[in-house]
Amino acid sequence: MTPPHDLAARFGRALDTRPQTLRACAQDFGHIVREEPLGVLRPRSAAQIGDLLAYAGPAGIPVSVRGGGHSMYGQGQAGGGIVLDLRAMNEVGPVTDERVTVRAGASWRDVLAATLPYGRTPPVLTDYLGAGVGGVLSAGGLGGACHRHGLVADQVLELEVVTGAGEHRVCSPGRDPGLFHAVLAGLGQCAVIVAATLRLVPAPARIRRYCLYYADLTRYLADQRRLAEEQRFAYLEGQARPADGWGWHYMIEAVAPHDGSCPPDDAALLDGLAHDPAALETEDLAFAEFAHRVDTDEEVLRETGEWLYPHPWLNLLLPHDSAERVVRAVLADPAFHDLRDTGLVLLYPLLSGRLRAPLFSRPSGQVLYLLALLRTAPPGSPETVAAMVAANRAAYELARSQGAVAYPVNALPMSDGDWRDHYGSLWPAFADAKRRHDPHGVLARGHGLRF
Ligand SMILES: Cc1cc2nc3c(=O)[nH]c(=O)nc-3n(C[C@H](O)[C@H](O)[C@H](O)COP(=O)(O)OP(=O)(O)OC[C@H]3O[C@@H](n4cnc5c(N)ncnc54)[C@H](O)[C@@H]3O)c2cc1C
Repeated sequence: MTPPHDLAARFGRALDTRPQTLRACAQDFGHIVREEPLGVLRPRSAAQIGDLLAYAGPAGIPVSVRGGGHSMYGQGQAGGGIVLDLRAMNEVGPVTDERVTVRAGASWRDVLAATLPYGRTPPVLTDYLGAGVGGVLSAGGLGGACHRHGLVADQVLELEVVTGAGEHRVCSPGRDPGLFHAVLAGLGQCAVIVAATLRLVPAPARIRRYCLYYADLTRYLADQRRLAEEQRFAYLEGQARPADGWGWHYMIEAVAPHDGSCPPDDAALLDGLAHDPAALETEDLAFAEFAHRVDTDEEVLRETGEWLYPHPWLNLLLPHDSAERVVRAVLADPAFHDLRDTGLVLLYPLLSGRLRAPLFSRPSGQVLYLLALLRTAPPGSPETVAAMVAANRAAYELARSQGAVAYPVNALPMSDGDWRDHYGSLWPAFADAKRRHDPHGVLARGHGLRF
């Protein structure tokens, strides 16, 4: 397919239609869905984005945004449409003590590189810093500091956006709040984020990381809940790890900041917890080293080639009351057996009251858990990938029957009914915002939402 003549004429050489570019934008981190666009535009300004959308809307041409390219299932692709590659719009700064303005094509690595020299950091970071600012804000953004500060998206003070109708707007909680709240955790449905102003807090010089091991899931979850509610640690995550034989054991990863001269009080921080004291591990790291901890994993996986294998990942948010049942069922399921060899299972608590972005769907109750089933499929085996995606679907249905919702950055087919169910009572307002801001429905179709 070639782009319509007037599209090519209007954007000229800025519209990249080279086969290798189209092939690259038909890929993402998931390596499962492949949809070739007609062309790729690399805007330098909001005005260029506005021009494209003002044209694409009435012409019915789909437009997707590509930031870091870390979608799992084609969410950032635009089959037969235009991909807006925002990576050149990646300026960060200026940095003040309280805030920084970031263009949405920057990665979180770029953000920290600019703020850490001033001793500042966003209050919440995702584990992996290579994802795009716009991509994480449109998903919500989860990390170990969420139990204290809410989502990554909850740290946004102001947004500069271009709506699906091509309008350039600035919004915040006090200025056009309807648009602001339709964009944060809004899966790119209503507008393209051009820039975000983020809250900053002092970055600690050093941190102490505690790894607490549990043989028993019930005790692990009880301690996770307690630690989240008591807010003892600045950062709280955890994992299920394969134990010898068939079983699993569990590890709480908790982090306390310090300034290097006055280390944290280990006894007070660990008081009353049910972990195995003989297995306790602690280490002191510079904050920057801790924040960049996943970089080393990325380097290793790039060297082995696994970074480019298919990634049928599934992230679920489980309500406290059924979390243990669902975790036990999924980890015992033979369809997830490969998690033992090549996967990673994250399991950590969040407090619903701290998560503010209205479009971030979550289960009922105050305490919930992220269960992330992060798997890698062998290359060249589409049948294995299809079986893993089918297993994701089964796990989603099981979890949903127990009150869970998806954190929608998954390799998971979702029907119209699933999406309505996902948003529940928020659906009518979301659909209304979509109709108002993206009246031709051209933005972000790769997520599979139909309004
Ligand atoms: C290795 C790895 C680790 C991860 N760790 C975490 C984690 O710890 N916590 C967490 O919450 N998530 C995590 N994720 C998920 C990640 O946050 C999401 O997949 C995110 O959407 C990726 O953004 P991106 O820009 O890199 O991807 P892209 O594929 O470029 O974008 C994803 C989607 O975001 C939307 N989007 C992107 N840019 C914009 C914009 N400027 N305006 C509007 N919409 C936009 C689009 O709808 C696009 O479809 C991880 C993903 C990977 C691959």
